Amino acid sequence: MVKNAFDSFIDLITFDQSLFVMEKEIQTLIQEISHLDKVLLDYAGQLQAGQTKIKTLKKEVENKEHQMKDFDEQERKSKERLAGVKNDREHQAIKEEINRLKKKQHDYESTLMIAWNSLESLEKEMHKHEQELLEKQGAVQALLDAKKSRINQLEKLLQSTQPERLTKEKQVPQEWMEKYSRMRNCVPNPVVPVVNGSCTACFYSIPHQDFLSVLDHQLIECKGCYRFLYSKERVQDSGEVA
Ligand SMILES: [Zn+2]
Repeated sequence: MVKNAFDSFIDLITFDQSLFVMEKEIQTLIQEISHLDKVLLDYAGQLQAGQTKIKTLKKEVENKEHQMKDFDEQERKSKERLAGVKNDREHQAIKEEINRLKKKQHDYESTLMIAWNSLESLEKEMHKHEQELLEKQGAVQALLDAKKSRINQLEKLLQSTQPERLTKEKQVPQEWMEKYSRMRNCVPNPVVPVVNGSCTACFYSIPHQDFLSVLDHQLIECKGCYRFLYSKERVQDSGEVA
């Protein structure tokens, strides 16, 4: 039993519709992957920001420690000078200087302590945050890998349908194929059935003459949306008759 051109055409369209489901899944997966890539970038940014914060605070602590050492050094020098003084007045002045330095050191101790504590708690907090981010990163990466492997699988499946599709394509007149391919690039459903005299895609009411042509299995374009039209009833009927 040789199929007529129109039945072959409908057969190809039906086949393509089944492929379209896979193509659509690939499109969805690509979008999801792009979203997850952005999520990963965001995590990386957060990790980076945390490290920068710690680095900045460490630098501040170092500066404060340096300042403290400076006071120590000044005190040491003053004490050296104290050992070599000749008179009481000078002795008294250096003594006062040493006392001032001692007070500065004492006052500065609490500043340094606050800085140490801030650094310690920031490090703790960041470490926790970092662990959480790394866990999230791992989960997202696993999801990404799964989606990429699904795309691979779908692409292989689509690839494997090509010989069958080619066979179906050969049974459809070249002119129809060209129109169909053009339309297929624009819409996912380039060929739609006519139901109750209307296009099922845009609901345009088909003129009577066109409807007769559709029933006669001619390739008619909908004047509303330019999709190709066919009559389901008739196709099924002719299938049964054949
Ligand atoms: Zn239409």
